[in-house]
Amino acid sequence: MTALTAAKAPSRRSRRFGLMAAACAAAAAPTLARAQDIPIIRDAEIEEILQKDGYPIWEAAGLDAKHVHVILVGDKDINAFTAGGLAIYVNTGLIEATKNPNQLIGVIAHETGHIAGGHIARDMGSKPALATYLLTMGLGLLAAAAGSPEAAGGLLFSADYFATLTYYGYSRTQEASADQAAATFLEKSHMSARGLVDFFDNFRYEEVFANARKNRFFYDHPLSSDRIDALNVRAQKSPYYNVVDSPEALAEHAVMVAKLKAFMNAPQQTFVDYKETDTSFPARYARAIAYYRNLETDKALKLTDALLADYPNDPYVWELKGQILFEAGRPKEAEPAHERSVELKPNAPLLRFNLGQTLISEEDPKKLDEAIDDLRKGLDLEHDNSLGWWLLAQAWGEKGDSGRAALATAEQNFWLGQLKDARAFAMQARNHLPRDSADWRRATDIVLTSQPTPGELQNMARQGE
Ligand SMILES: [Zn+2]
Repeated sequence: MTALTAAKAPSRRSRRFGLMAAACAAAAAPTLARAQDIPIIRDAEIEEILQKDGYPIWEAAGLDAKHVHVILVGDKDINAFTAGGLAIYVNTGLIEATKNPNQLIGVIAHETGHIAGGHIARDMGSKPALATYLLTMGLGLLAAAAGSPEAAGGLLFSADYFATLTYYGYSRTQEASADQAAATFLEKSHMSARGLVDFFDNFRYEEVFANARKNRFFYDHPLSSDRIDALNVRAQKSPYYNVVDSPEALAEHAVMVAKLKAFMNAPQQTFVDYKETDTSFPARYARAIAYYRNLETDKALKLTDALLADYPNDPYVWELKGQILFEAGRPKEAEPAHERSVELKPNAPLLRFNLGQTLISEEDPKKLDEAIDDLRKGLDLEHDNSLGWWLLAQAWGEKGDSGRAALATAEQNFWLGQLKDARAFAMQARNHLPRDSADWRRATDIVLTSQPTPGELQNMARQGE
């Protein structure tokens, strides 16, 4: 919706991410110290929920819904924005501020209105770098990546997402038009626009009282009463105005908010927000995460096992158990937990990467083929995932296959947009790989599509292309 200045992004990260950020700073300063990082968070469970929330809206908008993504930004400020392309960035703070799925879906619908309307936005002129963090893999990954800063940057989206990232600010007319488009998409999806009206209403007064600066979402384009009223009139005309969220959607929203709070806030805060007396699933889940983040492994495992006794088919509770054990330095015990999460959710690439990373960490040569298999399956699902390529390079390296290790490293750099390194590793891979094999050809393609220098081209030609 609005612009977020680059200047506000950098200092926040360490505060927000607690343990994770501490690990980043220690392990991987060169990349992560890049100014103006925006912390992008990856988490299979939350992405699944957000995708489910947005999908009907994107279809109603006539977009290719499979290719639209909500990208989660780890920031407590209330903000959502588009930055060109089919990505909608939503701050964790905004999700926490929504009281139900309908409010969040309303915001997604508004952002979709900007995309579908092809709004020509004011270029706000800031191109901040993005750093990626995994909610449920962060610490272990970053610790493991200590020797490899560029991988620790861990960008789990392709460089394409970032290359075009320019914050947009829209005109008042465009804001009003996005509101109306949102109402249309919601109606087509048989949902109410009431949530969006309510969400705006919650902030109507805050704005009057000097607090607006805190909430970027409303800063550049103040929420006028006229704007809210116009949306409200439109919302009430819909036959679906009184439609409420399904119990399933409400439950998922509560889980998402609990998980975000547990990962983003200090553990002590989570114990206050989700007291022992609250025996709901989200509360138990949040407390398990808080104990894990508080390095109280035994308590975290006890709570997680109790959850698994009640919800044995929840892939993400298995993922959490795997993560707790992995990061406690117990990869052999983590393996079956991650294995189970993959069985329950075979098409989630991030869960495959968890498992692959765990198998590599066992330092058992017999496990490497299995690791490679899982990493490849994950990369088939998300080909531009640099973390997956980085892990695959580790696995090939352990197996002593320097050609494929170099190729995977070339891919990792290629998808990070680090073309110089991509070329260098691809050239190295070509020297090791069997000539004319599929891998050798892929290495050649990477060189050719990574802005090769005339010298490198000559070099290749001399090898008898
Ligand atoms: Zn907007």
